[in-house]
Amino acid sequence: MGQLIRIVIILFAVWLVIRFVQRALKRFRKIRSASSSQPAGTAPVMEIIPCARCGVHIPKSRALFSKDKAYCCEEHRRVADKESGTE
Ligand SMILES: [Zn+2]
Repeated sequence: MGQLIRIVIILFAVWLVIRFVQRALKRFRKIRSASSSQPAGTAPVMEIIPCARCGVHIPKSRALFSKDKAYCCEEHRRVADKESGTE
């Protein structure tokens, strides 16, 4: 009878250890997947540049270019073009 209780306690302890390890592994995987969602080096770098007209900072991919200058919108590009044309 005493031996049976000992076996049950050992099995319970083993089950606790397995549960603890599984939980630790799950947490470890979650941390790894969270950090790997932003891989360093492979993510495209979004360059922020100022508008030559108003100075508003915009992503380079959304900027409008004219005469090697970046603008935040079509209107600013047009105004700047007009101003530079009258000089
Ligand atoms: Zn602007």
